[in-house]
Amino acid sequence: MRKKIVAGNWKMNKDFQDAEDLMFEIVDELTENGSGDTEVIVCPPAVYLEMSSDIAAENGFMVGAQNLSQWESGAYTGEISASMLHSMGISHCILGHSERRTYFGETDKVIATKVDLTLKYGMTPIYCCGEVLAERQSEKHFDVVRTQVSEALFHLGKEAVSQVIIAYEPVWAIGTGVTASSAQAQEMHAFIRSLLTEKYGEEVSAEISILYGGSCNAKNAAELFANPDVDGGLIGGAALKAADFVAIVNSFS
Ligand code: PEP
Repeated sequence: MRKKIVAGNWKMNKDFQDAEDLMFEIVDELTENGSGDTEVIVCPPAVYLEMSSDIAAENGFMVGAQNLSQWESGAYTGEISASMLHSMGISHCILGHSERRTYFGETDKVIATKVDLTLKYGMTPIYCCGEVLAERQSEKHFDVVRTQVSEALFHLGKEAVSQVIIAYEPVWAIGTGVTASSAQAQEMHAFIRSLLTEKYGEEVSAEISILYGGSCNAKNAAELFANPDVDGGLIGGAALKAADFVAIVNSFS
């Protein structure tokens, strides 16, 4: 059985005290409302990972990074390696987010290297893919996602790919308040799963969690998560409010 997962991407938000407060608010909300059988992952900025992972470890949820270096170690000033994250108890890492593709020029080739390093150090990649608006409007969205998924993941064997979480995040929906419709999300998630089935077989594809991301919030999560191929969400803005985030965690029917 694949897992239900809700992950929060805090991006570059919150000063230290606000970040610590938010972590404790999430703990309070989870204590009050529970999380059912949903796996909860919080991805704060790198400088708060240690504080966050200590709090999460004591309270039954997990912490992920938002990025890691494409290099393993050495003279790469300012970079944070997979091995460093792993040594701090970090279990997940978001890779290939559209903001990293757009502002930092990350290509699928670079992201594939990061996927390998994440897995090498025993962590779970949350691999993001998704088309920009012009690509959807010109009906290239399936081709774009096929290329992203195959170039960053299809060098992996069955066992390795089974460790990966995929997040479909249409770029036009990220931070815009415009959400993909439930039908659009299901259509693309089913397409991604069909790619996985073609490459790895049904047994493997049925085990891989595919999350939806893009203006998912406490109001629309239930409808999105009711789809058979939507296994949860990668949440940006709504992850910055503990009550909203935990309401999303509890939006599975
Ligand atoms: C994201 O950045 O991954 C995201 C989904 O953001 P938002 O929920 O704010 O659209």
